[in-house]
Amino acid sequence: MKRTKIVVTLGPASSSAEVIEGMIKSGADVCRINFSHGSHENVLEQIINIRAANKKLGTHTAILADLQGPKLRIGAVENNGVELIAGKEIIITTNECVGTAERVYITYPQFPKDVRAGENILIDDGKLLLTVVDTNGRDEVKAIISHGGILSSKKGVNLPNTKISLPCLTEKDLKDLDFALAQNIDWVGLSFVRSASDIIELKHIIQKFEPSARAKVVAKIEKPEAILDIDNIIKETDAIMVARGDLGVEVPMQEVPVIQKMLVRKCLEESKPVIIATQMMESMITNISPSRAEVNDVANSVMDGADAVMLSAETSVGNHPAKVVEAMTKIIEHVEKESLIYNRDNAAPENLQSERFLSDSICYTASKMAQRTKAAAIITMTHSGYTAFKLASHRPKSNIFVFTDNYHILTTLSLVWGVQGFFYDKNISTDHTIADIKFILKKSGLIKFNDFIINIASTPLSERGKSNMIKLSVVD
Ligand code: PEP
Repeated sequence: MKRTKIVVTLGPASSSAEVIEGMIKSGADVCRINFSHGSHENVLEQIINIRAANKKLGTHTAILADLQGPKLRIGAVENNGVELIAGKEIIITTNECVGTAERVYITYPQFPKDVRAGENILIDDGKLLLTVVDTNGRDEVKAIISHGGILSSKKGVNLPNTKISLPCLTEKDLKDLDFALAQNIDWVGLSFVRSASDIIELKHIIQKFEPSARAKVVAKIEKPEAILDIDNIIKETDAIMVARGDLGVEVPMQEVPVIQKMLVRKCLEESKPVIIATQMMESMITNISPSRAEVNDVANSVMDGADAVMLSAETSVGNHPAKVVEAMTKIIEHVEKESLIYNRDNAAPENLQSERFLSDSICYTASKMAQRTKAAAIITMTHSGYTAFKLASHRPKSNIFVFTDNYHILTTLSLVWGVQGFFYDKNISTDHTIADIKFILKKSGLIKFNDFIINIASTPLSERGKSNMIKLSVVD
């Protein structure tokens, strides 16, 4: 069983029950629903198909609802393509019009107020570059075309130097969020996060939707401002995504690899899952095998310590979604055979006053003990999932088997490195549970005679408290 998880993006090529099932069988752990495309009706169909596949296959594939955020776009242009010529001037207006080579519409009403002369306007993932000459502060911005080319309708716009006054959650996002929460999805992706307060605001809305709402937050890191506030963002969020597509336009592309490594390291230190996203297997949108550089990119992300690697267009509009997942699984499995990624030397928990000191110490010690005894598995009971997140961040070589009576935690944990979840709702005693779980795992062939195993639990079981016990035993 591979340890690094795979996130697949659903789209026209991969929304049917058949394709979703194929991708799960090939190694997909999380289905990402991209709210930038598709109606709520389509999304509902995708959710029904994911849940049906889980039921049929006995899997716990998670659902990540990815909100579009304040994505800026150019409006429609004449004949769906006009040529912008370097050196010429162009007006960008907030008054809706059909675009020409001299005047185009932007879907950002505050643009003339927010922008300053000299700032860059990147269009279509940076393929076109304009520089602001001046603004009338109301409805028009004059820019010079620094790097031209064909501009087609509705292309995305990035403003890396501009302090954008739009809220992180647009009206569309709020509607999509309501819809997603009503469907009881596992994770919400927040695009274009700029500061920790964006995460706090989203969490507040999730709480307000229903106090028991359980959706966790993935902060998509794709703005330079987010890098400046990264420690606070990681503290507030439940997971992050290194959204390399927009990030590589918003910051100089050569900075992305170092940022990626920094983000993975910080997330591991804080026990927050991290997803590496975008163009990982891009050539497989059409080809039947990845380029050698793509194989290296996936392998290096696994070696860096990512919890998950993500497929976007490869599965949403690509020619063979299940084959891409299969290829990614092969790369991951091979890297994981090597010892490079295991047993991180995390610092021991020092803060005796922390309310998590007991569970943190138990997870730390269990991981060290597992390394020393070459235990086949660390087995934990969890109600909130906390122990699973913490344990995974130590990257033990032993399997991590997580038992819970909360089905939703099982699907949520599908994003977390190494975690294999099982539903278990008997509540007799700690001793009984440990013996029963050992029996279940042995019967399924996941542990065998003479294996060392480590159990983590909370005792007494009836109190459903935090983990406070470790047991080392041999399978008899
Ligand atoms: C990205 O920019 O890398 C990304 C994942 O964002 P999206 O696909 O939602 O634009």
